[in-house]
Amino acid sequence: MRIAILSQDASLYSTRRLKQAGKQRGHDIRVVNYLRCYMNITSHKPAVVYQGQPLTDIDAVIPRIGASRTFYGTAVVRQFEVMGVFSTNESQAISRSRDKLRCLQILAREGIGLPVTGCAHATEDIDGLIETVGGAPLVIKLLEGTQGIGVVLAETRQAAKSVIEAFRGLDANILVQEFIEEAKGADLRCFVVGGKVIAAMKRQGADGEFRSNLHRGGKAESIKLTPEERSTAVRSSKAMGLRVAGVDLLRSNHGPVVMEVNSSPGLEGIEQATGVDVADKIIEFVEKQSEPKKTADRIP
Ligand code: ADP
Ligand code: GLU
Repeated sequence: MRIAILSQDASLYSTRRLKQAGKQRGHDIRVVNYLRCYMNITSHKPAVVYQGQPLTDIDAVIPRIGASRTFYGTAVVRQFEVMGVFSTNESQAISRSRDKLRCLQILAREGIGLPVTGCAHATEDIDGLIETVGGAPLVIKLLEGTQGIGVVLAETRQAAKSVIEAFRGLDANILVQEFIEEAKGADLRCFVVGGKVIAAMKRQGADGEFRSNLHRGGKAESIKLTPEERSTAVRSSKAMGLRVAGVDLLRSNHGPVVMEVNSSPGLEGIEQATGVDVADKIIEFVEKQSEPKKTADRIP
């Protein structure tokens, strides 16, 4: 097969591993910097042009779209879809996953376990918002944050009020969430490919840190999921319409709760922690799924 990996940087671990795994399985793999692609969107013969050449004969694309490049990245993926090219994740599902609030609303509708979460635009009724999620301690999150930046634990109601006022004063959009203390600074990253969890790791935050992000000094190890955790991860990726997803869970007293669903989950941490050849599993999935004109995983 001819497979294009849509990535800004061929030297990134995940991109390199996907390229290597694809070659090992006998495919023709090309890394395409989607930011350098251009296209005539009105053409009767839709095409994506890269380095002066139209990308024809591509059988499948694997999008690795950076969070800050979602708008243009998903436009390029969409153009491939118009051409009938299979994409591991659809443009629409990628866009959907980038909006944390929308993501939680979709998961809630499916009855998937979540921390009690609230959001508000105005600051006139902060007490009401704090009450909604059960009072302090609580977690306040910037909707635009990634890698744990902009996630704050407020131990008291007064601290919570100050932080909410400060964020809203900067016109930042926020979520207010029940603090899952019993998770003890750990979360579970479940890597889902084609409706199955193919690898899972537990990430433990550094000492005195409630955030488990590896970027914040967390450590990862392989973990065996319970059947409930496994099904929560699978149902979450399905609800989001994602075929390849990283689902983050916390172990709470009321069962597994989802933190977020990532549409371009990194391969480095999970492959190192678990020893699973995640890249190979993704390429294998592409082989099985890429018959042209597959039905779209759209949700209303
Ligand atoms: P980001 O998308 O920036 O990584 P997350 O919402 O995933 O932000 O939060 C980062 C980390 O902080 C999580 O992986 C988890 O360890 C911790 N965390 C986030 N929300 C809560 C919560 N409500 N209760 C307990 N820990 C939390
Ligand atoms: N980009 C990484 C992922 O989603 C973030 C990992 C982290 O911050 O811990 O897989």
